[in-house]
Amino acid sequence: MIRVTELRLPLDHPTEALRDAVLSRLNIASENLKSLTVARRGYDARKRGHIVLVYNVDCDVADEAAVLAAHAGDQHIRPTPDTTYHLPEATLPEGMPRPVVIGAGPCGIMAALTLAQAGLKPIIIERGKDVKARTVDTFALWRKSVLTPESNVQFGEGGAGTFSDGKLYSGVSDSRHLGRHVLEEFVRAGAPEEILTISKPHIGTFRLVTMVMFIRAEIERLGGEYRFETRVEGFETEGEGTGRRLRGLKLSTGEILPAERVIMAVGHSARDTFEMLRDAQLEMDAKPFSIGVRIEHPQSVIDTARFGASAGHEMLGAADYKLVHHASNGRAVYSFCMCPGGQVVAATSEEGQVVTNGMSQYSRAERNANSGIVVEVKPELDFPDDILGGMAFQRIWEKAAFVAGGSNYNAPAQRVGDFLAGRASTSLGDVVPSYQPGVTPTDLTLCLPSFVTDAIREALPQFERKLRGFSMDDAVMTGVETRTSSPIRVRRDHEGQSPTLRGLFPAGEGAGYAGGILSAGIDGIRAAEWLAASL
Ligand code: FAD
Repeated sequence: MIRVTELRLPLDHPTEALRDAVLSRLNIASENLKSLTVARRGYDARKRGHIVLVYNVDCDVADEAAVLAAHAGDQHIRPTPDTTYHLPEATLPEGMPRPVVIGAGPCGIMAALTLAQAGLKPIIIERGKDVKARTVDTFALWRKSVLTPESNVQFGEGGAGTFSDGKLYSGVSDSRHLGRHVLEEFVRAGAPEEILTISKPHIGTFRLVTMVMFIRAEIERLGGEYRFETRVEGFETEGEGTGRRLRGLKLSTGEILPAERVIMAVGHSARDTFEMLRDAQLEMDAKPFSIGVRIEHPQSVIDTARFGASAGHEMLGAADYKLVHHASNGRAVYSFCMCPGGQVVAATSEEGQVVTNGMSQYSRAERNANSGIVVEVKPELDFPDDILGGMAFQRIWEKAAFVAGGSNYNAPAQRVGDFLAGRASTSLGDVVPSYQPGVTPTDLTLCLPSFVTDAIREALPQFERKLRGFSMDDAVMTGVETRTSSPIRVRRDHEGQSPTLRGLFPAGEGAGYAGGILSAGIDGIRAAEWLAASL
């Protein structure tokens, strides 16, 4: 097969135009093109008046070698890459306990699935509940202001991305096509096939819930075992320094689980676990992350700003955006986790704190667009003396947001017009905030550091120049968005193991190696491969 990339066609092109474009690019007669399959479809909307669809197409042609030779210098005409995934081969040595995966987020799930498929029958330890019970607890915060600290948006089967937009793309370099493998497993678990071809796939919340249950059933069928409502609270080790080895896990049930090979995929909100890692003297570093607010606009404003007269076109769907501004105080301000047609959600996992994030359903049909507008936090400037200083920093602002919101899990909110004018909001305008259980109009400078609010105040007019309507007076900002990524990185060596605790494989977002569902899944596969190679 030959892959032809960057075929650009008008938005409303007739179906046969794609075949014609391939024939013209390859310069072959129609009878020599046996079949074509769309490998990827995206769009280029940089020019609003001239939006084009961009295709990558796999073609079965007569005399493939001759066609490739004729286009040898063309980087957009290449052999179709082999994306087949090959499972690691390994056997558990006699007497060695079964491998363990801590955390059933996308990283832990893909790690456990890979281990299970390789015949290694992993045990998955998850502090939260199974995804159905967890959904009830998560909705209790949104609807009744009742938080369950061990079962919420951050903790429980499916991990942090379960109640999300389910965006499934990532910027990580992926020469082994592991991202493709993750998407194929998701399709097997019930995700729509289109995620394999469209350039920015998303699946929304409800599908994610059923997919997570499907993958659990598959892991169990292959001999894996889940233990929910069980937290890992410590390590049993043997030896010293670089010779220290893992021998077991201390569980919240009081049990010591024998374990010599453990993938640790605990996510970015496992703050008690991070403290445990520091006390266990694992090598870790403070890592930059970002904090800020969620901003909401009518989706129609974003659609028109991005697509002009083509707004609402079925090939484009609800518009997203990506914005960045380098502020004069040296901090980057950027949009984060944009959710078209979605809602802002309460995402705290600790009592007395307010944290925002965003989610949507597959249809992306809600009235508002939302995204995080966040500002870089730099450990060397903002908390230079403490590896876990980022965590303490997040907590300060999450608590301040709780208080500013009314100390009842309502979130503090402010109209953009008021924020730019430097006055507190006392009421909101036409844009109705979607955050549940509710918002309190106030002044967001009460719950964010000044370097963050200064940078956002400078960025909004710049964003307006790129997206008309972005700094509209009635757009609503809801605070605070603090859990953008992990505040730490747990070191691992070229074999994927902690240099000071052999047998422990730190992985995923919490350990600082992923940022999003897809990259966490990819890292889970890598961790499983490292674990298998260590046997
Ligand atoms: P997590 O998903 O955080 O999973 C870690 C798991 O470990 C949790 O289930 C936790 O309960 C468990 N755990 C923690 N500590 C322990 C312990 N001591 N013992 C046992 N278990 C433990 N990303 C995207 O790519 N697209 C999106 O659209 C998107 N939307 C999001 C929306 C929301 C509301 C949120 C909160 C996040 C969103 N993300 C999105 C980010 C994405 O969810 C994360 O990047 C991803 O889930 C990280 O995967 P992970 O497996 O590394 O960690």
